[in-house]
Amino acid sequence: MDKTVSEKTDLRSLQLSELENLLTRAGYPKFRAGQLYQWLQQKGVTDLSQMSNLPKAMTADLQENYRISGVRMVDRQISKLDGTQKFLFAMDDDALVEAVFMKYHFGNSVCISSQVGCRMGCRFCASTLDGLQRNLLAGEMLGEVSEVGKITGEKISHVVVMGTGEPLDNYENLVAFLRILTDEKGRNLSMRNITVSTCGIVPRIYALAKERLSITLALSLHATTDEKRRKIMPIANEYTIAELMQAVEAYFTETGRRVTFEYSLIAGVNDSPQEADALGVLAKRVGAHVNLIPVNPVKERGFAHPDRRAVEAFQVRLEKHGINVSIRRVLGRDIDGACGQLRHRVLRGNQG
Ligand code: SAH
Repeated sequence: MDKTVSEKTDLRSLQLSELENLLTRAGYPKFRAGQLYQWLQQKGVTDLSQMSNLPKAMTADLQENYRISGVRMVDRQISKLDGTQKFLFAMDDDALVEAVFMKYHFGNSVCISSQVGCRMGCRFCASTLDGLQRNLLAGEMLGEVSEVGKITGEKISHVVVMGTGEPLDNYENLVAFLRILTDEKGRNLSMRNITVSTCGIVPRIYALAKERLSITLALSLHATTDEKRRKIMPIANEYTIAELMQAVEAYFTETGRRVTFEYSLIAGVNDSPQEADALGVLAKRVGAHVNLIPVNPVKERGFAHPDRRAVEAFQVRLEKHGINVSIRRVLGRDIDGACGQLRHRVLRGNQG
C-alpha cells in the first residue's frame, strides 16, 4: 500500500525568498515567485494548470521538476453537540494525519498534526501507539490549515499545533511552516493566534526562543516531580523539570510570551491536592497559565479522568496560588475526540 513520493523539492514548503532564489536560478523573473507563492499560500491552489497568470511553459517545467505536496480529505466527523469537526487527511504517500476544526467565541481554530505518528511514547496518548512514521513537510502542515478552511468555508484565525506528533521533533519544517503561516504575503495569521505545544525538548525550546516568532508555547507538564513525570512521559528521562523551567523562562525573556502549562488530569496518578499545590508553585514562578485537561480515556491505555468535582477541586486549589487556570472545554465528545484516535481506529481497520 505504501506509495513512494518523489524526492523533488516541494514548492509549497518554500518561503517566498526561497522560491525567488529557486525560480531566478531557473531563469525566471523574480515576480513569478510572488505569483506562484500567492496561488499556493493565499489561494490554496495546488494545481499548476489552474494558475492562470503563469506562462504554460513555466508550469510545464515546474510540473516536471518539482512537486507540490497534496493533502486530501479521506474522512470527516462533525460533532452534533458543538460543531467541532475532525478531519482525516491523506498525504501523497497515503500517510494519514488528523486535524480538528473548533469554533470559539474568539474565532475559528484548527488543531493540526506535525508528524505522522509520534515517537515520544507518552503513556496516556493514542498518537504514539503506532510509533513515528515520518515528519510532515511545512507544505503539508499548511495544507491541513488550508483544506480545513476550504472544506468548512470558514475563516481560520487561530492555529494550534497540538495534534499528532511532537512539533519540536520536526523543528526545521515547523519553523518554515510558522514563517509562511504568519507571513503577510503568505497566510497572514497573527503570531499571537498561534500555539505550539511541546512535551519539552529543552534545547529546541531555546532554539525556538531565538527565532523571533512571538507565538505561544504550551508545555505539556502533566506531573510536578521528575519521578512521577518519568512514569508517564519518557522524555522526562532526558530533561528535568528544573531544566524545563529555565528554558521557559528564557522563552519569556526572548519573546515576551508567557508559557501555558498543560496538565492532563489522570485519576489517582497526578490529581492529589499536594500536586495542585506543587503545580501552583511552579506556575507562579514562571508566570504560566495552566490548562487542565481531564485525560481523554484511550482504550489501550487504561487511564481514567477524575470526576468533575475532583477536577474543579483541583482547579480551586491551584487558583489559591494566584494562577490563571482554565479547564479545557471538552469538544466533540461524540466523535473520536482524543489526539490520534480517529487515525488509530482507521489504521486498525475500524474496530474501535
Ligand atoms: N507532542 C506535543 C503536542 C501533541 S499532544 C505535546 O506533547 O505537547 C497535545 C496535548 O494533548 C499534550 O498536552 C498531550 O500531553 C495531551 N494529550 C495527549 N493524549 C491525551 C489524552 N488521552 N488525554 C488528554 N490529553 C492528552
